Amino acid sequence: MRAALAYVGLGANLGDRVGQLRKAAVALDAAPRTRVRRRSSIYETTPVGGPPQGRYLNAVLELETQLAPLALLEQCLAIEATLGRQRSEVRDEPRPIDLDILLYGDEVIAERRLVVPHGKLHQRAFALVPLVEIDPNIEHPALGRQAATLLRRLAATSVVRTEETW
Ligand code: ADP
Ligand code: MG
Repeated sequence: MRAALAYVGLGANLGDRVGQLRKAAVALDAAPRTRVRRRSSIYETTPVGGPPQGRYLNAVLELETQLAPLALLEQCLAIEATLGRQRSEVRDEPRPIDLDILLYGDEVIAERRLVVPHGKLHQRAFALVPLVEIDPNIEHPALGRQAATLLRRLAATSVVRTEETW
């Protein structure tokens, strides 16, 4: 299979937030036929939706992968579990790590378990800001717009670049 460029959004607001982002990046780099090519800065952001909860650290990784989209999702879910993510019925609850596939090449996927581009990417500054940092010209293949254009349409929310390092 040809390698694709995929963009994974990372978020953490429980426990050692930066430690969990770092471990997730190491684990994705160690996933089969996958390597991390680029990493955004680490941002601190205000939670969107869900119960009252602490601020998030968010970042985006650019992966080169030969895994199919669903296989990459499986890797993401397994890494979340390893880093202590437990799911409940509550939507948008606090979590030690969240890994979302934002983009997978220019593929548009609408399956029960996987929607790509991520269904809320165009609404979320905490995902678009680090994505545009990595690639200012990147396109949203389903909406046919540049991510930077989508970002300019959003109401201002707090997405602050930190000095945290990988
Ligand atoms: P959220 O990220 O919306 O807070 P979860 O992390 O609990 O929710 O993910 C719930 C489910 O979302 C996953 O089990 C997965 O099957 C599904 N899903 C659909 N599209 C994606 C995507 N692009 N990236 C990650 N998960 C996705
Ligand atoms: Mg998720």
